This record gives sequence, C-alpha cells and structure tokens, in this order.
Amino acid sequence: MADIVKTIEALKKGEFVTPKRLAEVLECQKEQQLEYLFTTADQVRKNHHGKVVKIRAIIEFSNHCRCSCWYCGMYAGQKGLQRYRMKAEELVSACQQVWQAGYQTVVLQSGEDLYYTKEMIGEIVKQVKTTTGLAITLSLGERPFEDYAYWKLQGADRYLIKHETCNEPMYNRYHPHSSFQERIRCQNDLRLLGYELGSGFMVGLPGQTNEMLAEDILFLKRQRVSMAGIGPYICHPNTRLRGSTDGSAELTLKALALARLALPRANLPSTTALNVKGGMRNALHLGANVIMQKATPFQYRNLYDIYPGRESAEISLKTQLNHLKEQLCGMGFTGV
Ligand code: SAH
Repeated sequence: MADIVKTIEALKKGEFVTPKRLAEVLECQKEQQLEYLFTTADQVRKNHHGKVVKIRAIIEFSNHCRCSCWYCGMYAGQKGLQRYRMKAEELVSACQQVWQAGYQTVVLQSGEDLYYTKEMIGEIVKQVKTTTGLAITLSLGERPFEDYAYWKLQGADRYLIKHETCNEPMYNRYHPHSSFQERIRCQNDLRLLGYELGSGFMVGLPGQTNEMLAEDILFLKRQRVSMAGIGPYICHPNTRLRGSTDGSAELTLKALALARLALPRANLPSTTALNVKGGMRNALHLGANVIMQKATPFQYRNLYDIYPGRESAEISLKTQLNHLKEQLCGMGFTGV
C-alpha cells in the first residue's frame, strides 16, 4: 500500500516519478489502493475544474486518408470502405448548426486528406469564426508549419494530434507512412504557434507494456499539453491488427486517473472510444472533465469507421446536447 500511495502523492505534488513507479500503479489490482488513486484524481479534478464538464461537438468531415496506421479502419489501403468528403459550405453549415444547438466548441476531425488545401481549411475556419462564437479545434493530422500557422491566423484555437504511443520503435512500426519524430515536430510547431495543444494515446495496443504507458503519461507533461485524449485501443477486424485483443477499460481509467494527477489543469476527455466501452460515467468520477459528442451529419457517421461500435441514435443536435446536460446534472455536474 505504502509505495503506491507515495507514488500517487508524489505525482500530485508535481515531483519527479519514475516510469517504473507509475507502472506499478497501473499494474495494481488491490481495491483499496485503486480506490485511493481514483478518489485522489477526482479530488484534483474537483479542485481545478469544480462541477463543470466541458462539452465538445465533433464533426468528422472526411474519411479519406493517406496514412497506413495499422490499427485504423480508415487506413489508405482499406478497400471495403465507402469514402466521403464534406464540401466546404456543407461543413460550415454543419458548424453553424452545432452553434445553434447550443455547443460552445467544435472539433473538426478527418483522415489525412490533402484534398483540403491550406487555403480551403483556412476559409472554413474563418467563416465559422465570423458567423458563430464557436471555439475551433482542428484534428487533421500532420501538415507543414505553414499550414498550421495560416489556420491559426484565420482563427483556429486548438489542435488535437495525439502522440498515440511515445515508444518510438512501436510508433514507427504502427505508422509506416511517417515517424514519431515527425509527429512530435507537429506538436512542437503547434505549441509554438500558440495553439492549445491536444495530445493523447491509446491504451492496450498489441505489444504495449505498462512501463510504456507510464512513459506516455509522463510524456504528456513534458509536451506541456492543454488536453489529452486517453482511450482504449479497439480492434478493427479489417486492419493489420485484426484478431488482437481490445485495450481494457479498467487500465484506461487507471491511466486517465494518473494523467489527472500529473496534469491537474489539463482538459481530459472521456474519449469516444472509452464511451463505446461504457466508461463515461466512471471517467468523470476519476479525472475526466470533458465529453465529446458526435455532431457528424448522420449520412456520414457510420462511414467514419476508425474502430467498431460507434453507432449513434438519430436525434437532433439540440436533443442530444440537452440529454447529455440532463445526464450530467443527475451526476452532480454542470455541462457547458
Ligand atoms: N487524422 C487525424 C485524426 C485521427 S483519428 C490524426 O492523425 O490525428 C482520431 C483518433 O482515433 C486517433 O488519434 C487514434 O488515437 C484513434 N484511433 C484510431 N484507430 C483506433 C482504434 N482502432 N482504437 C482506438 N482508437 C483509435
């Protein structure tokens, strides 16, 4: 007990903790010690974020992708997938609907689709910024410094680009089209440009150890991220990793709680992958302070097939938002 508690306390105080000690917490199965971890993380969340849960709408606007990520169902070579791409006007109008429904923030995400030029994305950002009060998070993958700089000038506020795993050999194996160094170049450029930087990683990738996960948590701190999406790996049957085991929701929740201790002020979502595994309710009680809700037009939702199990009910954005706010209220939170 004593060692785990010491690690939790040290992390909470901002002291240096070795990956080995963090890994011990991730391995821990003892109920009392886990209870201590989760309640401490919940307390830290409460101290820094109070009752507020931030709600984000996410629009997945294209499933075209030039990448070959081993785990992703939308990878470039995927033949069985019907591809779609929203037109600029269609995307701007979808953002306006998100605003009218009452959301304050929109996340625009896509595969790495170079059809959208620097100028096109810039124009979309500018139009959304001038016609709504939405904060804009972009999540379009790896682009040159110039693109990121231009989008910032046009009004983009945040950028989400997860490091996925900070184990360099593993990163490079699972992302044969790019490299860990390039990913980090993107993150560093974005932070330099004044974006609020969002990172994060997957839990339970085949071959990943608890010590690697511990490094992932510490890496978030080194990168000074403003937000971090931590979600379980979910096996997609049509990828190179077909047949592998899903990441566990429990281990994801432990990693999330540790991330809260390491990053008291950061925005930590209950990721959509974790919600698929039924983890939202728990996540909010052990460190998460953000919920992402899909706002992708219904005709495209099932085509954004990064992992299975993401079907959602066909209700209006306003109803969806109000349902979530009521649900949060019932849990003692205020959704904004
Ligand atoms: N093209 C953008 C967006 C990627 S998709 C980019 O490169 O940043 C959004 C996130 O989905 C990824 O960052 C990854 O963490 C997650 N993801 C993809 N496939 C997954 C899978 N099989 N299981 C769990 N998460 C997955």
